[in-house]
Amino acid sequence: MARYQVSLLPGDGIGPEVTEATRRVLEATGLGFDWDYCDAGLGALEKHGDVLPEATLDSVRKNGLGLKGPITTPIGSGFRSVNVGLRQALQLYANLRPGKTIKGVQSTFSDIDLVVVRENLEDTYAGVEFDTGTPEATEVISAINKLSDKQVAADSAITIKMITPEGSRRIVEYAFVFARKNNRKLVTAVHKANIMKYTDGLFLRIAQEVAAENPDIEFNDRIVDNMCMQLMQKPQQYDVLVMPNLYGDIVSDLVAGMVGGLGVAPGGNIGKDVAVFEPIHGSAPTHAGKGVANPTAMLLSGALMLRHLGEVEAAERVEGGVAKVIGEGTKVTYDLRADRDQSKAASTNEMADAIIAAM
Ligand code: NAD
Repeated sequence: MARYQVSLLPGDGIGPEVTEATRRVLEATGLGFDWDYCDAGLGALEKHGDVLPEATLDSVRKNGLGLKGPITTPIGSGFRSVNVGLRQALQLYANLRPGKTIKGVQSTFSDIDLVVVRENLEDTYAGVEFDTGTPEATEVISAINKLSDKQVAADSAITIKMITPEGSRRIVEYAFVFARKNNRKLVTAVHKANIMKYTDGLFLRIAQEVAAENPDIEFNDRIVDNMCMQLMQKPQQYDVLVMPNLYGDIVSDLVAGMVGGLGVAPGGNIGKDVAVFEPIHGSAPTHAGKGVANPTAMLLSGALMLRHLGEVEAAERVEGGVAKVIGEGTKVTYDLRADRDQSKAASTNEMADAIIAAM
């Protein structure tokens, strides 16, 4: 029987609760897992003085596989986001965010089956920023003003948008490989190349080149604002959407909203040799420690991990168990109930038990 070594990062807030539920459900598939528990987030800060200790990164690098709960980004300067830090340290360039309707989850939309592939490392998220009025900003602005016809105001704050040919190629190639592996028919590149002719223009040009190399899969492109409108009007016309970082952040939350919100939205961060799967939602501090959090997004992230490992049948059993329990609507957490009545809702663990029984 297959056995997998997985770095498990329970995170903080509701993270440990949804992680424990997920661990139990994944073990109920019959596959073997050696879980390497790793600290990250607030607990790690107290224990090791670092929200993302090197030992955690080493474990994920060694195993090539991580399953991660949400992690709070402490408010205040000096703290790096563990989530962004992890993606950058491990070069997890692709953020995979599927959005599929689950029967029984309340939503304005039905029959949604979309996958957002978001570039994870470049764009305005690379972290090259200069604050208003600083000597660095002044120097950058004066260099720009020497080189450009268009002048930047002296007191501007600056965030650099970086798009490289290599970064664009690898994310679009990833989208095509994912589409082929998952029997998907269409890849849509999302951009704003009509306005940002060089950065988004480069992304679009590379996307068109990669599309020409993959003629078995249909390709088109949409300007991001039009894409948002079309997702509201005719989402069934779309399939796999690939886009730079910032648009991906926004459009994937839009898609999460179309299938019922953060509680049911899974995600994966994929690099060349390492992949880390995590729910899209945050640490929901107000619910922490109460056993009421919805484990679905984390469970479906676990199922994505199984698919990544080629364990399709096990993934389908998890997804099927989740769909059955949500469809029945009795053993579900409060957020999945129409009345949101906590006193009638299942706890995180009770919902996980029902899913295990349904599998
Ligand atoms: P959040 O996702 O934690 O919460 C948003 C809303 O959704 C809240 O009302 C919350 O109660 C609800 N919610 C989220 N997940 C739920 C679940 N599983 N079950 C039931 N209800 C759920 O977002 P936020 O409040 O903006 O962020 C809280 C913290 O999480 C911040 O520190 C933020 O930086 C961090 N965060 C981390 C990640 C990550 O680890 N990848 C992602 C987003 C936010």
